[in-house]
Amino acid sequence: MTVRTRIAPSPTGDPHVGTAYVALFNMAFAHSQGGEFLLRIEDTDQARSTPESEKAILDALHWLGLEWNEGPDNGGPKGPYRQSERSEIYQKYAQQLLDSGHAFRCFCSPEVLDEMRSAQIANKEPVGYDGRHMHLSDNEVASRMAKGESYVIRMKVPREGTCNFNDMLRGEISIDWAQIDYQVLLKADGMPTYHLANVVDDHLMEISHVIRGEEWINSAPKHILLYQYFGWEMPVFCHLPLLRNVDKSKLSKRKNPTSILFYQRMGYLPEALLNYLGRMGWSMPDEREKFSLAEMLEVFDIERVSLGGPVFDVEKLSWLNGMWIREALTDEQLADRLQEWALNRDALMAFLPFAKQRMETLSDIAPLGNYLVSGMLPITAEQLKSAGIDEEPLLEVLQYSLWRLEAIQHWQRDTIFEALKSVSEGMNIKLKPFLAPLFIAIAGSSASISVMDSMNLLGADMSRARLRHAIDVLGGVGKKKLKKMEKAYQQLS
Ligand code: GLU
Repeated sequence: MTVRTRIAPSPTGDPHVGTAYVALFNMAFAHSQGGEFLLRIEDTDQARSTPESEKAILDALHWLGLEWNEGPDNGGPKGPYRQSERSEIYQKYAQQLLDSGHAFRCFCSPEVLDEMRSAQIANKEPVGYDGRHMHLSDNEVASRMAKGESYVIRMKVPREGTCNFNDMLRGEISIDWAQIDYQVLLKADGMPTYHLANVVDDHLMEISHVIRGEEWINSAPKHILLYQYFGWEMPVFCHLPLLRNVDKSKLSKRKNPTSILFYQRMGYLPEALLNYLGRMGWSMPDEREKFSLAEMLEVFDIERVSLGGPVFDVEKLSWLNGMWIREALTDEQLADRLQEWALNRDALMAFLPFAKQRMETLSDIAPLGNYLVSGMLPITAEQLKSAGIDEEPLLEVLQYSLWRLEAIQHWQRDTIFEALKSVSEGMNIKLKPFLAPLFIAIAGSSASISVMDSMNLLGADMSRARLRHAIDVLGGVGKKKLKKMEKAYQQLS
């Protein structure tokens, strides 16, 4: 049997360091077994998936130096490798489960499901779909379908006993069936959910080892059941430990930038970032800290993965990156890297239309543009407060803007402008004073070019990171306050 592993990212946001981490371990394991590693795009969530995000994920993984034998960009014998191009396949398999009695049509509307939920909460019962349409007669189903009632297809799940399965790193895992819901497999619009598409594709793409993040352990029973229902051979499961913030909580962008594009923009070297990800729960046999992808692949042994919550610490990454800059690159290579990174003609050309108006000498370019090639800016709370907004609304201006900007799918000047304008209107603050602290957060001074243009040039990740940094500079937002702000934010029009 050929070992085949895969990474299956959903293109619903920025390329996440966790995706690269899981990709790296999948690739390394496949390599260690003389196997193959493939990339599949899981874009069944049509509302949240975007082609921009898919491209950003592929570009970011390529930038890091990861390579896959098969994928949406390089093709392969088991394609297509994008789930949105495979919907007929999933419909066929959903029908097969209906025919074999392992799945059923559920006609409950969202309102009925809401009522069910409220009643369960009121009666202090476990919340979840109660299986009420599992035993509808064939006649009833036919008549509802004839009336054009919309339905989803759910899988049957035992209510008693436990699901026991083996994890390559964790040994035997037991999960009570009672905890597993009657999962929707096919949505009302005919699109599959993650669970159906994932299992069908892993089978059809002959994946032998499913190596993924620990957050998917609770989904494993559904997948195992689907393999049994279809009569397919089960892959080996291996759930890698989650990356963590320094305080050991799950890695989150509130505490650590999580987008690979942020690290790229900050000027981390791909070799160093990949090296650091390789140290997440794994170490070289000689414990050396700096190693290349090729060196890791040569000696990789998945047994050496330890489960004790690896901490993604940006300070350590910076230290390692410094080592790579000093030890691995000649001055000439470093000059090339700097050019590739941001000191190049394209970057200048993007900025000059704005800078030109303000230049008297060529040297003016440095103070005008230094924030575009900097990391976090040395701004102070006094500077932010001097922009003219009181402290309390100031935090709200920054936090609400951040939330609104996080929701932007297509990062462009006009979408940024619309987002900020809507918050300023919602907060009833005129646009000019509203934008003043944002100028400081983004460009370090209120004398820069328009803040929307700056954000556009800086890109989504660096812009958001600077807003987060400004919030931190003001002392941050505690949990309680955050809850209050979330509520108020939801009420903004
Ligand atoms: N699409 C899932 C994700 O976004 C894949 C999970 C898995 O590997 O099964 O992570």
